[in-house]
Amino acid sequence: MGKTKLLTKKRKQFIWRFWGYLLLPVIAVAIWSTQVGAAPIAIMSGLGAVYMFMLAPVPCGAPIRERGRDGEELYCRRNARGILGGCNQNRQHGWANAKLLASRSKWGEFLRRVLADGKGFAASVSALATSGATIIALGALIVSLLK
Ligand SMILES: [Zn+2]
Repeated sequence: MGKTKLLTKKRKQFIWRFWGYLLLPVIAVAIWSTQVGAAPIAIMSGLGAVYMFMLAPVPCGAPIRERGRDGEELYCRRNARGILGGCNQNRQHGWANAKLLASRSKWGEFLRRVLADGKGFAASVSALATSGATIIALGALIVSLLK
C-alpha cells in the first residue's frame, strides 16, 4: 500500500483552474486579522480581481446570430476565461463582450447573462468583492503613506 498523495494530478489541475477562488478565504482572514498590513491585502485582492476578470472559468456569453425556438436571443455557452473574455473558438466573442460593456445601456443585459450561470455568478460576486477590497486596501495604504 503506497502513501496517498496529497496533491494528485486532478487536485493540481483544480488548484490551477480555481486559484483565484482559493485566494478569497486568505484575503478574508488577512482583513479580519488586523496583523496583516494594507500592502499585502492590496496585492492579494488585486490578483484576485485580475483572476475574476481575465482567468476564471465562466461561460462566454457573447450574443450569437441563431435564435431559440421562441425567438429569444441566444448566447454562446462555450467556456471562456474571465468575465471580460470570450471563448477561444471565436475571437470576435471577446470583442462582442467588450463592446457590450462599453455601452452603459447594455450593462444590465450583460450582467443578467453572466449572473444566469452559477459559475458566472460566483465570478461576478468575487470580482466585486476583490475589486472593493483592492480599492479599500489601496486607500488605507495611501492614507498610511501620507501620515
Ligand atoms: Zn463564444
